[in-house]
Amino acid sequence: MSTYKELLQTAREFLKKSGIADADIDAWYLLAHVFGINRADFFMHENKKVSEDKALEYKKLIEKRASHVPLQYLTGVQEFMGLEFEVDENVLIPRQDTELLVEEVLKVSKDKAVLDMCTGSGCIIISLAKLGNIKEAVGIDISREALKVAKRNAYRLGAEVDFIYSDLFDNVEGVFDIIVSNPPYIKTEEILSLMPEVKDHEPKLALDAGASGLVYYKRIIDEVNRFLNSGGYLFFEIGYDQGGAVSKMLEEQGFIDINVKKDLSGLDRVVYGKRPI
Ligand code: GLN
Repeated sequence: MSTYKELLQTAREFLKKSGIADADIDAWYLLAHVFGINRADFFMHENKKVSEDKALEYKKLIEKRASHVPLQYLTGVQEFMGLEFEVDENVLIPRQDTELLVEEVLKVSKDKAVLDMCTGSGCIIISLAKLGNIKEAVGIDISREALKVAKRNAYRLGAEVDFIYSDLFDNVEGVFDIIVSNPPYIKTEEILSLMPEVKDHEPKLALDAGASGLVYYKRIIDEVNRFLNSGGYLFFEIGYDQGGAVSKMLEEQGFIDINVKKDLSGLDRVVYGKRPI
């Protein structure tokens, strides 16, 4: 029988040898997840012998992590905007960078009807519903499996959101004050150069945006006027090099007050514009 300390040490070395960048942190999080312990429990009981069953469960997760399955798919959760979201391989793992998108929307979302396109785990619209005093919240996705995750998240977090199965606007009814989206935006050819965690495990559907990387922005912007009130806002998360192209598309569609916002790394991350009154 091994102790917590021995298990952790072996796991760290194994992850390091397997080329996992945050080996120490990941070994710890998986230990905490399997045994339900926190740092204090660990230090008080580090020489405690643990059950073989649990040790085996831990080792299996470590092996999966060593094969580059993202940590969050193993623990099943990711924090976003201070809320805990359930995730699985049907949804993109919520990114800290996307919090900027939510923060920008929060500045204007009070009492507004908000539509989130390509909702995935639901992290954006659920955060807005929880934190934004909004009037109405709708999330759409083309993946039924993703919508199941989003619905579970809304239920767990006590957020009132309608989730609709829809290929972009196909099944959307009504008109909104704010439309927000973090659509797929990676160029097909760039997907192969992403980390194995992303390219081999996160849903391609949530990443791949054709040869230009811009297809979803274009499709949304082309149709958005029917679904956005005049005076309403359209917000996008974008890739670091897409600010110019997406701003131009918004301009061509008649949007005004177009703005590009930078994330914490100083890279363009959010674009928004207003539909004139
Ligand atoms: N809206 C979700 C997120 O921001 C999913 C995005 C996507 O699938 N491209 O995490």
